[in-house]
Amino acid sequence: MRLRRVPGIEKEFLNYPHLVIADNETQKGKWQQHFANENPVYLEVGMGRGQFLKAMSQSLPNANFIALELRDEVIFDAAQTLGDELKNVAVLRGNADSLDKWFAPQEVNRLYLNFSDPWPKKRHGKRRLTHENFLKQYKQILAKNGDVFFRTDVRQLMEFTLTEMTNNGFSLVDVSLDFHNSEFFDGITTEYEDKKSKHGPIYYGHFVLK
Ligand code: SAM
Repeated sequence: MRLRRVPGIEKEFLNYPHLVIADNETQKGKWQQHFANENPVYLEVGMGRGQFLKAMSQSLPNANFIALELRDEVIFDAAQTLGDELKNVAVLRGNADSLDKWFAPQEVNRLYLNFSDPWPKKRHGKRRLTHENFLKQYKQILAKNGDVFFRTDVRQLMEFTLTEMTNNGFSLVDVSLDFHNSEFFDGITTEYEDKKSKHGPIYYGHFVLK
């Protein structure tokens, strides 16, 4: 899938010069320089409208948060939520299949995958963000022992993810089949999570790159 561009939206993103990155490629290997510190780099893939990113970046000010999103109209909403003032946040427009173009090997310390699209049909399996093709990308950019934190409301996607991750070089550290009633939940949620948790359990997995 390609970045879903909205005509004329570049002009809107100019209002957020410190937030929305204009040229992803030029940042490769230079993310700590971008933030002018040596703090760890945490990447959220499939950010949505920015609720989780905003809360996490405020809760962990000594980490640099970068969020990737495919859809321009969603990024536009996120930019309005985030504003241009958060010093430890950047947003990338693009597809997770190109992460190795924008990050140097081992440049990322942690990855968040929250409520990734489940793509239930088998023939769409390669679009799932925990399909082995995406895991290859994550492995290229993650530091040794880098973490992946995963949440979903879709049991089949949880099962698929557990299998795919553990078959492709990641170890399972923690798992919960009822995240919100578990010791792992700190109260920070995404937009999807707020909607979906009213109707059933949230599944959670914490993995580490071997
Ligand atoms: N994480 C948010 C939340 O929990 O509220 C949004 C969840 S939404 C179901 C999935 C998001 O992932 C969508 O905004 C979609 O555009 C984005 N997405 C899907 N595939 C992507 C890809 N290959 N690269 C980047 N973003 C992607």
